[in-house]
Amino acid sequence: KYRRELQLRKKCHNELVRLKGNIRVFGRVRPITKEDGEGPEAANAVTFDSDDDAVLHLIHKGKLVSFELDKVFPPQATQQDVFQEVQALITSCIDGYNVCIFAYGQTGAGKTYTMEGTPENPGINQRALQLLFSEVQGKASDWDYTITVSVAEIYNEAIRDLLGKEPQEKLEIKLCPDGSGQLYVPGLSEFQVQSAEDINKVFEFGHINRATECTNLNEHSSRSHALLIITVRGVDHSTGIRTTGKLNLVDLAGSERVGRSGAEGSRLREAQYINKSLSALGDVIYALRSRQGHVPFRNSKLTYLLQDSLSGDSKTLMMVQVSPVEKNTSETLCSLKFAERVRSVELGPVSRRAELVSWSSQEHLETPQPSIRAQSS
Ligand code: ADP
Ligand code: MG
Repeated sequence: KYRRELQLRKKCHNELVRLKGNIRVFGRVRPITKEDGEGPEAANAVTFDSDDDAVLHLIHKGKLVSFELDKVFPPQATQQDVFQEVQALITSCIDGYNVCIFAYGQTGAGKTYTMEGTPENPGINQRALQLLFSEVQGKASDWDYTITVSVAEIYNEAIRDLLGKEPQEKLEIKLCPDGSGQLYVPGLSEFQVQSAEDINKVFEFGHINRATECTNLNEHSSRSHALLIITVRGVDHSTGIRTTGKLNLVDLAGSERVGRSGAEGSRLREAQYINKSLSALGDVIYALRSRQGHVPFRNSKLTYLLQDSLSGDSKTLMMVQVSPVEKNTSETLCSLKFAERVRSVELGPVSRRAELVSWSSQEHLETPQPSIRAQSS
């Protein structure tokens, strides 16, 4: 019965890929807050279509500019509304898929709110870990799962382990010695989640480590990428078949253009590193979406680290965060142009790759083999 369920899920997945591709771009507009101030600068500059939830309009310098994404969340959308849309993506890790969810946008646009959220209104990170934990617990079958978590930060192209004993240490990305071609980061801690309480511990610990390493957490977090990496490993005791799925949840550094206003020294260096890694991410997603032969993963630590989770049959969601106020429209315009660029490639009615994928799933339906991405044990 469980095998049938897996086959059905795989079929649904293939259908989705066939229709929409592996890369989705969502937008989320935050509400206007007290911090936006008052007067014309804090006036609303974003409007929506009542009959099309994929469209957003920005009033920039008196002109209306419209954008079409895969979906747009207006300011009144709740954390639960957002999570509902990404839930299926998240649980596909249990079937062995790799998934990346990025929050992109200028500082103050709501990236951390979407990913981390607040204690009263937790974001995707906590909801995802909770959901995965309860899903694998509730499964009555021959399959056993373990869930492990890593928390890392990339600052000035250096990777740090936020769950480790030496969070100052810079880590490197290496090829697995087993010849599988997979990448890994020697020294990056993996914490096994065995109870619901462990979930809170992971977040607390990661936070403490991040905060003690810098004088101003807010400033620091806007200039570094924060990664929560959840790995779900499954083993079927009756057949020995193993699966591994990875969920990468990334709160990106602020996308605002800093270098232009005469920044110097360390500020300029930070800005250059951020610019380099965000452009590299855009280039990689664009190359993947347009199915180019060469994908420039190695142009930044971020894309290199996530290479396994961005390529192959992995799934990617870019959540572009938008500030609704007048004074931010220049940056908002840049963010939305980035969003359009990464999703602008026409996939055509049925892409060749997706065609091949759905073919193999048809075959699997006929054979008594589990159709998930299996690795021989
Ligand atoms: P970023 O991480 O992009 O710099 P934050 O997530 O810190 O931005 O958001 C800036 C401020 O706006 C925070 O005070 C946050 O709580 C608030 N905020 C952002 N998005 C929302 C939202 N969807 N609903 C309510 N408040 C939000
Ligand atoms: Mg933030």
